[in-house]
Amino acid sequence: MKYKNPDENGYYGAFGGAFIPEMLYPNVEELQNSYIAIIESEDFQQEYQDLLKNYVGRATPLYFAKNLSKKYNTQIYLKREDLNHTGAHKINNALGQVLLAKRLGKKRIIAETGAGQHGVATATACALLGLECIVYMGEVDIKRQAPNVARMNMLGAKVVPSTSGSKTLKDAVNEALRDWISNPVTTHYVIGSVVGPHPFPDLVARFQSIISQEIREQLYEQTGNRNPDYVIACVGGGSNAAGTFYHFVEEENVKLIAAEAGGLGIDSGKTAATTFLGTLGVLHGSKSLVMQTADGQVIEPHSISAGLDYPGIGPFHAHLFNEKRAEFFSITDEEALQSAFALTRSEGIIPALESAHALAVLDQKTFKPDEVIVICLSGRGDKDMETYLKKIQDMDQELSGQL
Ligand SMILES: *Cc1c(COP(=O)(O)O)cnc(C)c1O
Repeated sequence: MKYKNPDENGYYGAFGGAFIPEMLYPNVEELQNSYIAIIESEDFQQEYQDLLKNYVGRATPLYFAKNLSKKYNTQIYLKREDLNHTGAHKINNALGQVLLAKRLGKKRIIAETGAGQHGVATATACALLGLECIVYMGEVDIKRQAPNVARMNMLGAKVVPSTSGSKTLKDAVNEALRDWISNPVTTHYVIGSVVGPHPFPDLVARFQSIISQEIREQLYEQTGNRNPDYVIACVGGGSNAAGTFYHFVEEENVKLIAAEAGGLGIDSGKTAATTFLGTLGVLHGSKSLVMQTADGQVIEPHSISAGLDYPGIGPFHAHLFNEKRAEFFSITDEEALQSAFALTRSEGIIPALESAHALAVLDQKTFKPDEVIVICLSGRGDKDMETYLKKIQDMDQELSGQL
């Protein structure tokens, strides 16, 4: 039983690898050959851990949600990644990779972003550590995510619109890859989730593994036991879930649950439920489950949460799904919205819409009263207020229609 790390070619079972144009070999090989030695070095760890503590604000609390536990008649703990600097788990990875890039002598950072969260985290790390930052973003997303574009600009990053294809995330990834091919020596590409060619899925999982490392320590302090019965996380590409699962994946008595974005429903044609609908394919440099047509065209995904709006899933998760090591749920937009309001009203915490998908599993499955459930609250809901406000207005209208 070995799930945690890929083999030397970057495979998790049948998934992973590095499917890249030949011109990227030097960059990717440089990373493959050096990443573990660098990030495990004492010098790197000292700087990284210091920043996580004093800059990001780690350790994030593991909070026993008393009201929610009562409501569902089970023991629910929330891992508060929403309390990190910049509002989500993404900074754990962005800081780690920018530090790594510095150690590799890189002067220039590129990244792609959909909703802008990863772009903001990367721009933040670059401002702090003094590297040039270029963020590729679909033209459509630039219009949809104006506040995050403003943040990136203020942080000194250059936001470059992708104007090809559907003008969204997958087009931004293609442009970032093109840039990397043109600037192989000076540039590091900070990928934002456990996707991309080997070693990115493993690299990002290692940086996010701080989440489950802390959960084990904090759960031990609070309950005398390091292992919960369940850990639950939402999955876009899969980085917060990989971090939440990492130190539990070889612990057979800990059950893993992943929540995917079902959008308007699996059969609606507007969904991002990759494990339910995906087939084996290559997307952004690795072999995994991909939502695609019979002739291999990527299907445009849909989710109410921009962070889960991705047509693939990292190879680590495809393997967990295939081996039935993790149980996958598809959560609709409406179910996620309901759970976001339920958490807000019961605990006074406004979650990111992405994280609300993980919370929605509580309505899909019954847990025993003495079971311990840890849910990763991957981010805060500030960025989603417009969507939440619209929901409130819809509910008000429905109510006045009934009167
Ligand atoms: C980006 C994002 C996600 C989805 O990305 P993963 O790589 O699957 O973790 C989830 N939650 C929040 C708050 C995000 O910003």
